Amino acid sequence: MPRHRRVKIIATMGPASCDPAIVRSLFDAGVDVFRLNFSHGTHKDHQRNVKTIRALESETDRPIGILMDLQGPKLRVGAMAGDSVELIAGERFRLDLDDAPGDARRAPLPHPEIFAALKPGADLLLDDGKLRLRVTECGADFAETEIITGGPLSNRKGVNVPGVILPISPLTDKDRKDLRFGLELGADWVGLSFVQRPEDVAEARRLIAGRAAIMIKVEKPAAIDHLERLIEMSDAVMVARGDLGVEMPPEDVPSLQKRIIRACRLAGKPVVVATQMLDSMIHAPAPTRAEASDVATAVYDGADAVMLSAETASGDYPVETVTMMDRIAVRTEADPLYRPVLHALHPEPEPTAPDAISAAAAQVAATIEAAAIVSYTTSGSTALRAARERPHVPILVLTSKLETARRLAVTWGAHCVRTADVSSFQEMVQKACGIAVTEGIAKAGDKIIVTAGVPFGTPGATNVLRIAWIEG
Ligand code: PGA
Ligand code: MN
Repeated sequence: MPRHRRVKIIATMGPASCDPAIVRSLFDAGVDVFRLNFSHGTHKDHQRNVKTIRALESETDRPIGILMDLQGPKLRVGAMAGDSVELIAGERFRLDLDDAPGDARRAPLPHPEIFAALKPGADLLLDDGKLRLRVTECGADFAETEIITGGPLSNRKGVNVPGVILPISPLTDKDRKDLRFGLELGADWVGLSFVQRPEDVAEARRLIAGRAAIMIKVEKPAAIDHLERLIEMSDAVMVARGDLGVEMPPEDVPSLQKRIIRACRLAGKPVVVATQMLDSMIHAPAPTRAEASDVATAVYDGADAVMLSAETASGDYPVETVTMMDRIAVRTEADPLYRPVLHALHPEPEPTAPDAISAAAAQVAATIEAAAIVSYTTSGSTALRAARERPHVPILVLTSKLETARRLAVTWGAHCVRTADVSSFQEMVQKACGIAVTEGIAKAGDKIIVTAGVPFGTPGATNVLRIAWIEG
């Protein structure tokens, strides 16, 4: 059975969600894509999780996406004497390359590239932005700062340097090792953390060499500066609100979220809204009203997917959280205001055959009240153009390529089924009708819209739209 919603759900795996029975329950509750967070866990953990997901995929006969999320250049201070020290606002504080444990006057910051990029006046944010240091003087191996916001600083806390473009690859040595491992495991998507420049994506693409699709995480101000170009170079985008809201003021996050979703919808690239969506459900069986509203906002905006992090990775109520997210999404999409809000943005078709067919399919489906649009696709690109229309009916994607079906698990409205390629027009129509019925998307007497490329077997040539009746 297809999901009763168009928006997709991504859930992060972790200690709370590694048991195969829980993974099954998460899938049944609505997870379309599982995220492996390489900031945590061992290779063994990830390997076991992939095995569990692939077993579930065979058991349910549904393609499931796997997103491997690389840690990226997450900067951290070194060790502190006694594990934690108190920084007092107004005092001076030095950061340097000396690995002696830190105290109330200085701390190790083992990243020479930061010192090279810092300028007096720049702010360093520590521990998710809880502490703020302002650089007064800096050199190749140190920075003198004034403590603007004080508080406890403990071992290995994260450091953000907003507004400064760091001359570092978004792929650390650890990332490169993780990437090799994750690609061998068969990840469908690679999440690139802290992307700053178009070159970052180009480098990742060279290394990945087509084995997985690339999801960039927008969490640095520099990425916002290059947004359109970065979207063009990637296969999907995550609005990574956790780090984004540290690198930039929280009040900027809502409008950035809308801007990124809009730009991705115009480009026809899947866009994911992530972080703190149902945060309080980490420890409570129900969300706050504000969180319910946050999930609904992403749905109204037409995001392709909404994501859960600690809620499913280490929370007390992983399955309940997915159930809640599913309920909010289903209810929101049923709101009479959903369509008018969603279609406030209407991406114009580009002058190509696939766009002309996709726009026509959405239009014809609405006019004749069809039950579904069936899209034959090899690479998945036609299905993405069909989804870009945000049609009123489900998109049944038929593809012979399992990797295409798995990647499209993040895409709005796409219900993918793997099936052998067809070789005749008649077979194309019959197969589409048959699968629409067995998948529970259409029934006898319904009409469906079938789109494909003829002659068959020439990818990237969608040029046919056919209205078919399901016979009784
Ligand atoms: P993270 O990315 O969970 O890997 O930090 C998401 C975010 O920053 O929002
Ligand atoms: Mn992040």
